[in-house]
Amino acid sequence: MTVFNYEKDTDGIVTVTMDMTGPVNAMNAEYDAAMTSTVERLENETGLTGVIIASAKKTFFAGGDLHEILKWQKGKEAQLYDYTMALKCLLRRLEDLPVPVVAAVNGAALGGGYEICLACNYRVAWNSPSVVLGLPEVTLGLLPGAGGVVRLTNLLGLQKALPYLLEGKKASAPQALEAGLVNELVDSAEELVPRAKVWILENRENESACVQPWNLKGYKIPGGTASSPALAQLMMMAPVQLMQKTRGLLPAPEAILNVAVEATRLDYDTALRVETRSFIPLVTGTVAKNMISTFFQMNEVNGGKNRPEGIAPSKVKKLGVVGAGMMGQGIAHVSALAGIEVVLKDVSIEAAEKGKAYSEKLLGKRLARGKIDAAKKEAVLGLIKPSVDDADLQGCDLVIEAVFEKLELKNKITQTTESCLTDQGVWGTNTSTLPIARLAQASSRPANFIGIHFFSPVEKMPLVELICGEKTSDETLAKAFDFTRQIRKTPIVVNDAVGFYTSRTISTGMQEASEMIAEGVHPVRVDNLGKAIGWPVGPLTLHDEVSQKLMLDIINTQLEMGLRKPEDDLTPEGTAVVKRMFNDYQRGGRHHGGGYYDYSEAGKIIFPPLLELYYKPDYEISDQDVKDRLLFRAVIESLKCLEEGVLRSVSDGNIGSLMGIGAPVWTGGYIQFVNTYGLEEFINRCDELAASYGERFRAPAIVAEKIKLGEIFH
Ligand code: NAD
Repeated sequence: MTVFNYEKDTDGIVTVTMDMTGPVNAMNAEYDAAMTSTVERLENETGLTGVIIASAKKTFFAGGDLHEILKWQKGKEAQLYDYTMALKCLLRRLEDLPVPVVAAVNGAALGGGYEICLACNYRVAWNSPSVVLGLPEVTLGLLPGAGGVVRLTNLLGLQKALPYLLEGKKASAPQALEAGLVNELVDSAEELVPRAKVWILENRENESACVQPWNLKGYKIPGGTASSPALAQLMMMAPVQLMQKTRGLLPAPEAILNVAVEATRLDYDTALRVETRSFIPLVTGTVAKNMISTFFQMNEVNGGKNRPEGIAPSKVKKLGVVGAGMMGQGIAHVSALAGIEVVLKDVSIEAAEKGKAYSEKLLGKRLARGKIDAAKKEAVLGLIKPSVDDADLQGCDLVIEAVFEKLELKNKITQTTESCLTDQGVWGTNTSTLPIARLAQASSRPANFIGIHFFSPVEKMPLVELICGEKTSDETLAKAFDFTRQIRKTPIVVNDAVGFYTSRTISTGMQEASEMIAEGVHPVRVDNLGKAIGWPVGPLTLHDEVSQKLMLDIINTQLEMGLRKPEDDLTPEGTAVVKRMFNDYQRGGRHHGGGYYDYSEAGKIIFPPLLELYYKPDYEISDQDVKDRLLFRAVIESLKCLEEGVLRSVSDGNIGSLMGIGAPVWTGGYIQFVNTYGLEEFINRCDELAASYGERFRAPAIVAEKIKLGEIFH
């Protein structure tokens, strides 16, 4: 029995309906067998007039099996090449049938699914929101290896194909029709196969209907080949723009661009082989493995791996936000967008209204971009009520406090306002540094108290860090988790500790950068090498944004509260630089008139006294050491958080670092980085760094423990 249902009608048209084991059709061993026997049967069929490829599932075809892809390791390149070519060959044979082949697309056709469509001569799709097409392989560090790069480039031309290939852009059914990804749309799924049959019959006499356009004599690729003058500018700019975007850290887009260009120059079969050759190192390399593991972990985290089991799902109907400043206004905005009624409270009605005006501004932008209509804008705004009165908070099922970072103030608000909550209501604090246990001491119901740590700007940052205090109950965590999903953000769950996970880890890069300045490294070099590892901005630029003043305030508060001791500072020389710059030169950060850099309309330049006081042109340190010092500090801190139980799972560390604190995508997150670097290699490199730069680089014991267990971090 094959999982590809084969049905021939009286007109000689065979409909192949893919109905694989499990919920979706996917490229795996079952597919290989089914496609092989189907193609053989079609090749030997008598009286064949056309073929329709259809699906019995809700999605048309889900693409490659990522678990299979993860299994391919270095050293297996030749085997993988043969395997990929064999798969590719099947689609080539389907394409070479002497009759037209039509794809009847009834649902999502992404990756391998759309590659099957491309191997057909004609594509009919259902005009439904459930139909989405594209080649998103690049987002997993891969390229479409079943002919997708070559065929799409031939079909659309280089210029139009590149956004789909390099960005993994997806298209809805109408967009796909407009872009030429499909040939026509039908209004219902039931019309797909009949319409495909009509097209085949209409084209009975048309000899070219069974030939791919690019295999027809005289075919010209839209826009021309890579050598044509019309594409000269694209050919010059595309690699530069790509390098600016990826900083040379992501091999997949580079490989895709190369294959797409070659596809316009080489003969078809050679181009298909080049595509395979470029696919192999991506599959066996580390970046795709890291990016695929991110994809799996993202599903785990959003799917509720950290949500306590057995607690009924909940929804927040009425939210109170206390403090309408930078964070409070953002929280109010994203919550109202998700349809939640919000009371936004501040000390004056002007401050509260200013908070609401922020939402109005953001909604205005969405309206201008056509993302929402005027009615939606009014509806969302209508959900936000500015207030100065605690009585308005009555009946809230969640309150998020976002006032100044002061323990006494936060405690006072908890004491005076907590009673407005419903019986099971939850009190969340958006503190970024204060221990939840200390804050919860002011609460009469500490089991309902939790940290809900947003990132700035709230409307753009996808992560929320949920911090459980000693007494936070499972019910409270589940509610905070559900709320985070309700506002379409990703929740990671951590335990209470100074700096939680994200603040603690992000600060290591800034500390290490200032330490290197103290040693005599040129500050701009440190900053640029931070960008070179894939951080969105260099660590000194980041420090200027976060503000040195705030960091010093936090350190002082933590010392006063007894949360840290002076000897906890692992980079005291670097801290001395920051203090000196602040005390002697008032360098508090960009918003305080400047930090490491002076900022002006023309750009930024390094603050001259920094060079005069610290820079030593003769100080020798390799670029690799600078980069590793920055990256390894963040990785080591993440491992310590795991070891100390601040992180409850590896996936929280990976997803939290990627989405909240700028961990480079190629790493797969700060813990996954160790897996593909190699655990032993990691310990060795840490030892080297420790020998040269200090004990803070020693690998935490948890790495050696994993080696002993024969495990990696998962
Ligand atoms: P902010 O200074 O912009 O806003 C604080 C607001 O609280 C002000 O509008 C102030 O008027 C209001 N407020 C003060 N006392 C109040 C009271 N008694 N009742 C009601 N409102 C009162 O501060 P922010 O940057 O929005 O930070 C708020 C909280 O979020 C802090 O705990 C901060 O540590 C935390 N946080 C900030 C960031 C960030 O990047 N700014 C990120 C994560 C968390």
